[in-house]
Amino acid sequence: MISHVLPTYNRAPIAFDRGEGSWAIATDGSRYLDLGSGIAVNVLGHANPDLVAALTAQAGRIWHVSNLYQIPQQERLADLLVEHTFADTVFVTNSGTEAAELAIKMVRKYWHDRGEDRTEILTFEGAFHGRSTGAIAAAGSEKMTKGFGPLMPGFRTLPWGDHDALNAAVSDRTAAVMIEPVQGEGGIRPLPDTCLRGLRELCDRHGALLVLDEVQCGMGRTGRLFAHEYAGIAPDIMMVAKGIGGGFPLGAVLATEQAAAGMVAGTHGSTYGGNPLACAVGARVMEIVADDAFLADVNRKAALFRQKLEGLVAAHPDIFEGVRGQGLMLGLKCKVAPTDVVKAGYAQHLLTVPAADNALRLLPPLNITDEEIAEAVARLDRAAASLA
Ligand code: PLP
Repeated sequence: MISHVLPTYNRAPIAFDRGEGSWAIATDGSRYLDLGSGIAVNVLGHANPDLVAALTAQAGRIWHVSNLYQIPQQERLADLLVEHTFADTVFVTNSGTEAAELAIKMVRKYWHDRGEDRTEILTFEGAFHGRSTGAIAAAGSEKMTKGFGPLMPGFRTLPWGDHDALNAAVSDRTAAVMIEPVQGEGGIRPLPDTCLRGLRELCDRHGALLVLDEVQCGMGRTGRLFAHEYAGIAPDIMMVAKGIGGGFPLGAVLATEQAAAGMVAGTHGSTYGGNPLACAVGARVMEIVADDAFLADVNRKAALFRQKLEGLVAAHPDIFEGVRGQGLMLGLKCKVAPTDVVKAGYAQHLLTVPAADNALRLLPPLNITDEEIAEAVARLDRAAASLA
């Protein structure tokens, strides 16, 4: 008999009752060190007092009004995002998938309004942009699209890291190139800065829009507020989600005035997107994360973590192949199935997340302590030893 919860996930037999910072406490009282952060979501850990205060203060006032009215909390969040990024304007969503859908619509409307027949959006093998019909068509992987056809047309998936294929594919008919600066689900694969700069130049040469998906790698995860800042370039459109809500469902599309020009009243909407509750939390997350001292500390901890992980890889050459990633978006390339390492981690009361390309993802809260980093590596060491 089918379970009452639609069985689309293979779930671990653990349920969590509460959380404290980097720790998730199971219903049996046992404490798990959380290097998954709900898949790169809880950037400030569990039950962060600042976020609890922001949420409960708003919860006691008003939860939902609809975008028929002015929403000061949404304006505050948009102001903060515009202040700290390339963007001139922001649409607030409830998730990364919704952000991807709007980004695609924005690209199409941009070219429609310019009277140009440009509809092809180029994406990359290993990409993940969500699970809607549009987002699975964009990523194009067999695993996500099988059985869900006919797929939405207008996307072409290129091999990852193949410059010749990219140069041949981008033309004056390309509507946009959509890419994650660091692939998350694809296995923590950072796009080198030179490639991102080259991509920006290529788009400029052909007038194509550059759409960055920073749903997983954004919001301080890589040690900069957004990963593309390392390359010194700016996109035309960017999707954000996960970390921006610190655990509350929230996403956003950021765009330049030019790229967003077609999105006039009536062209897009959302009942819940931009509600006061989510935006009050999102604004507080932005105030904390978009701070130079906070980001400097993320980088300091990332260096410490990476150094310890290099030692771990050297100690377990049969289990691990190498460390990859940027900031606190770290991956361990495995020689065994990463799901086996995840399971061995559970036995050590450690939460990690598998990814494609045989990678294990380590996505701790950005405010993890040095002691917790040391403890995490000790638990990973025991987990690896148990698999040897
Ligand atoms: N884009 C990227 C890069 C993601 O990692 C994800 C989720 O993992 C999404 C989009 C979809 O976001 P959501 O699950 O919030 O819809």
